[in-house]
Amino acid sequence: MARPTRSTDWGFPRWRGYGSAREAVKVRLCDRHGCDEPGNCPAPKAPNSPERWYFCQRHAAEYNARWDYFEGLEKAEAEARAGAEQRTNAGYTSAAHYGWASSGDGSRSADEMRALELFGLEADADFEAVKKAWRARAKEFHPDVKPGDEDAAKSFQTFSLAYEVLRAAEERREWHG
Ligand SMILES: [Zn+2]
Repeated sequence: MARPTRSTDWGFPRWRGYGSAREAVKVRLCDRHGCDEPGNCPAPKAPNSPERWYFCQRHAAEYNARWDYFEGLEKAEAEARAGAEQRTNAGYTSAAHYGWASSGDGSRSADEMRALELFGLEADADFEAVKKAWRARAKEFHPDVKPGDEDAAKSFQTFSLAYEVLRAAEERREWHG
């Protein structure tokens, strides 16, 4: 199984001429990785965020269907889904990166709370505690430590995503003061 790699596409718009070759009009492409349809359906990158993805109709629908996809899930199901999400890894890596974590107002989002819970941390845990918890889990479940252990790999990915949620949130708080 190929190890998932983070997309290097950070969501900067791609453009190209669309339609006939003589047509000078540039059409913005769907932000979904690998999609060459025109991206004419804006979708917020995060709640309260003015930033938008631009998807084609199909991928906008797909993206919206996943919106708040942690909401209402039991913890175990959410973790399983997070693992599956990371494994399939196709185009939503960066979308998920933004979409998951943002509350936009500096308070803990539901996803952050779930990530903290996953690490067994309290809501007021500082980022040092998060890093420490993540390092402990990474050591425990890293594929290099447990080669071929699929459950460990799943756990590693789940914790890795949870850490990413918290790290991104921490960064936003630093930027916004
Ligand atoms: Zn598309």
